[in-house]
Amino acid sequence: MSDTKYIFVTGGVTSSLGKGIISASLAKLLQARGYNVTIQKLDPYINIDPGTLNPYEHGECFVTEDGAETDLDLGHYERFLNKPTSQANNVTTGRVYQSVINKERRGDYLGKTVQVIPHITDEIKRRIKYLGSKLNYDMVITEIGGTVGDIESLPYIETVRQLRWQLGYQNSVVIHLTLVPYLSASGELKTKPTQHSVKQLLENGVQPDILVLRTEKELGHEIRRKVGQFCNVNIESVIQSIDVSTIYEVPLKMQEEKLDLVVLKKLNLEIKEEPNLAPWKDFLHKVKNAERTVKIGLVGKYTELPDAYKSIIESFIHAGAVNNCKVQIDMIHSETLEKQNPEDRLAGLQGILVAPGFGHRGIKGKIEAVRFAREKNIPFLGICLGMQMAVIEFGINVLNLEGAHSTEMYRNTPHPVIDIMDEQKEITDKGGTMRLGAYKCKLSKTSKLQKAYGKTEISERHRHRYEFNNKYLEIYENAGMKATGINPDTGLVEIVELPELKWFVGVQFHPEYKSTVLNPHPIFVSFVEAAVSQG
Ligand code: GLN
Repeated sequence: MSDTKYIFVTGGVTSSLGKGIISASLAKLLQARGYNVTIQKLDPYINIDPGTLNPYEHGECFVTEDGAETDLDLGHYERFLNKPTSQANNVTTGRVYQSVINKERRGDYLGKTVQVIPHITDEIKRRIKYLGSKLNYDMVITEIGGTVGDIESLPYIETVRQLRWQLGYQNSVVIHLTLVPYLSASGELKTKPTQHSVKQLLENGVQPDILVLRTEKELGHEIRRKVGQFCNVNIESVIQSIDVSTIYEVPLKMQEEKLDLVVLKKLNLEIKEEPNLAPWKDFLHKVKNAERTVKIGLVGKYTELPDAYKSIIESFIHAGAVNNCKVQIDMIHSETLEKQNPEDRLAGLQGILVAPGFGHRGIKGKIEAVRFAREKNIPFLGICLGMQMAVIEFGINVLNLEGAHSTEMYRNTPHPVIDIMDEQKEITDKGGTMRLGAYKCKLSKTSKLQKAYGKTEISERHRHRYEFNNKYLEIYENAGMKATGINPDTGLVEIVELPELKWFVGVQFHPEYKSTVLNPHPIFVSFVEAAVSQG
């Protein structure tokens, strides 16, 4: 049996308290003490993965190296730990039931009635333990999505109860994250919601070891004592998580509160070296003390919900720190560029990013944004759909290819400059069938991105069905739009550049998935640098 330790993170009172950030921060502290840690997210919805969800429902869909479409929390895990995650790090109820039902059809349970307990809970257990026993992590932090008391979370809480008993209580820890609201009318912090939430967990047979309390005001000793007393938790295990200006400060706040030490003590683990957080602190210092601001427009159709562009927004924070500046993102709904004069809306920006996306809503506005950037020579980055729009705009306005478009939006376009990939033509299922995950790309020696990466062979993550149509490659290149990144195995165009302009780049892949605090992505770093020099 492996000696992996398991840490469970549950949430109570309300959603959106930041379980993902607390999990990632604890993992960061444990990693900085020399432990090999991973984080897993269990999502209680019935979709197999969030790939088929509208971003308005669940924010961005994060893609891993192995091509899993996952919850955006995995993005935080990678950005904090600087380590890739995989499909095993995100499990949904849909996936669990699918495995159990497939086993039932195969006859694995022949003669038995298949039930939530033990079959579903056993499958959840298998997927939690897999990270420890097969992938050999010292510690697995499992974040349980949703809020305690939700009907759909019950099998997960029950699994935690069973696992703790099986693993032994010294081999696992339950951290419960709740909210201590401040009532401004009476000037009081209220602990009752936390007490109720812990009671609910207890009803399900789980006693939390540690409580992390989100709060906007400092929690005094008396509040901590009261919570500890009513929830059967030592006072040093009542941890405050106070609001901060950036999520990257949370690991340091958790260190001040000794969350990592409390966890190690409960797990009977030795306190190894003090965590080395110097590079992290250096980054945070730069984020908080930026000398200048640069304004970049993010043109997309989900701009009302910034979570839809989480990884892009975080990548700008990482790249800003490298360039000693704060990137102020101006969220621009692409449909507004169809109703309003784009020149008025886009004036004053030092850089323009056209975001990834699907479907035809707001497409015209995206094309207008590309045109503005190209004609005014403003640093431009197009990601996935954004790159495709750059190709279409160039086709229409420079090459005079009337009606040039993508067959995604305009099936019978006379000029399908963006077309469905051959391997996609026969696919009818929507879930998990795109070109997904890491693919190699070879950069041309004189390109801007070759300079940015400092190498010619790269690998980046993809999530799309359409591609640059190579039938048009020659006329594009002759007119000045160069394919500067090519997939060496398939010949697919992965990058286009306009070398005549200051900085104009379109990428078919998603660089934002690979930017981390300690490894800011070279494309974002170079783009922000160009935007800064724009003045
Ligand atoms: N809708 C486009 C495609 O499928 C772009 C996808 C994206 O931006 N992720 O090719």
